[in-house]
Amino acid sequence: MPAQILDGRRIAQQMRRKLRAARDALGPRPIRLVSVEVGQNPAAAVYVRNQQRGATEVGIEMEARNLPLQSTETQLLAMIRDLNHHPEVSGVIVQRPLPPGIDPRVVQSAIDPHKDVEGMHPANMGAILYREPTMPPCTAAAAQELALATGMDLRGAETVVVGHSEIVGKPIAVLLLHRLSTVTVCHVGTRRLVDHTRRADILVVAVGKAGLVHGDMVKPGACVIDVGINQGPDGKIVGDVDFASASAVAGWITPVPGGVGPVTVAMLLRNTLRAAGAAI
Ligand code: NAD
Repeated sequence: MPAQILDGRRIAQQMRRKLRAARDALGPRPIRLVSVEVGQNPAAAVYVRNQQRGATEVGIEMEARNLPLQSTETQLLAMIRDLNHHPEVSGVIVQRPLPPGIDPRVVQSAIDPHKDVEGMHPANMGAILYREPTMPPCTAAAAQELALATGMDLRGAETVVVGHSEIVGKPIAVLLLHRLSTVTVCHVGTRRLVDHTRRADILVVAVGKAGLVHGDMVKPGACVIDVGINQGPDGKIVGDVDFASASAVAGWITPVPGGVGPVTVAMLLRNTLRAAGAAI
């Protein structure tokens, strides 16, 4: 039987409805989210548009600022300091990629952790080792939400996360570990990837290589969460998982686009409302 589709657009829409109610409960004061981009990147432009659309629906005012490509790290840090002190700004996002010469870690660390709605300040990243923090990293929280949406019991499930980056793979592994999943993390040094992926009840792939995981690497009935975003030769966006072969074997699968991406944006909006004081 072909896999059930984990429809990220539908799940994100349900989340936005709940977020709207939480936002309304905060009263008429404006809730502001500021996005800062250095230079102009077509991929970032798509993210910003999606974030703005979601923000409007939920009742968050999102302002997109652009600094010229030649801007220095010092100039970007000065803008962040200003936003940190601005009483009406609840959340700050810095869009990636940043131009060479600007260190993303320095920039992320400069954002006030209470306004770090992407959940990537070291304080928020570190907090996930203890528990799920108020502002978890958005993509990791989205992957977890999609796994929960299957209704599977995560406790004791064999979970394999392919990819061990700071912003995606590692936080996903830790969040699922908190659910008492038995988590294996695979990465560029893993010897025989297939030996691990074939054991997985929950397989999360976050690498950035189109077609890395094929159906013959998937356990029948597994939940496959594809975080990857890659541009195919025809310009189309594809994930890291070969959807046609994997969906014939898996029990659940996220499409790309329309899987992890929309839920990630919903998590960003949830973090923004939490930063503004909403209990959601
Ligand atoms: P990254 O380049 O920082 O990390 C890639 C990871 O893949 C590393 O841990 C590396 O060890 C591992 N890897 C590389 N080759 C491998 C191989 N052959 N076998 C096993 N592991 C291998 O990338 P990232 O920032 O973690 O992003 C990963 C993907 O997720 C990208 O496609 C990115 O665009 C996408 N992404 C999606 C969202 C979303 O919201 N949907 C958000 C962030 C990133």
